[in-house]
Amino acid sequence: MAIFPIRVYPDPVLRTPAAPVARIDGDIRRLVDDMFETMYRAPGVGLAAPQIGVALQVVVFDIGDGPHHLINPVLLETSGSWSFDEGCLSVPGRYWPVRRPGFARARGLNLAGKEIEYAGEELLGRVLQHEIDHIGGILLLERLPRRSRKQALKEIREEEMLRGKGR
Ligand code: ZN
Repeated sequence: MAIFPIRVYPDPVLRTPAAPVARIDGDIRRLVDDMFETMYRAPGVGLAAPQIGVALQVVVFDIGDGPHHLINPVLLETSGSWSFDEGCLSVPGRYWPVRRPGFARARGLNLAGKEIEYAGEELLGRVLQHEIDHIGGILLLERLPRRSRKQALKEIREEEMLRGKGR
């Protein structure tokens, strides 16, 4: 297993829709292992493959009840509304109150190639929506209301300039 550096905004891989996994083989098993190790080390409650630079539809998560993974996940259903201070390993150290549906149901494959479904409220619902967003190349920043998004992007730019990474 290996720990990978986590890609951070504005890395273009985070804006690129990931490709579906065509065949679940040793490479995919290793990818899932590496993603778990990287997620636990971060630490975080969820991680999508693009966040370690792999543009494939694989997500892992653990909201406190053990490790779960989904290959080629799709969001089937959402309902309700819940505001939660949401963060992202790819936008490190920042949290914003984000309103999203409270309930989510998602389906994908596990490493055995079997269809598997997760459904839940609150944190589980949020993690499913957040990680499946990553698969579509969508970052948390895009889920912020326009005004807080502008402010967030400004703060991130200023921080980058302070670190000497800016223009
Ligand atoms: Zn994220």
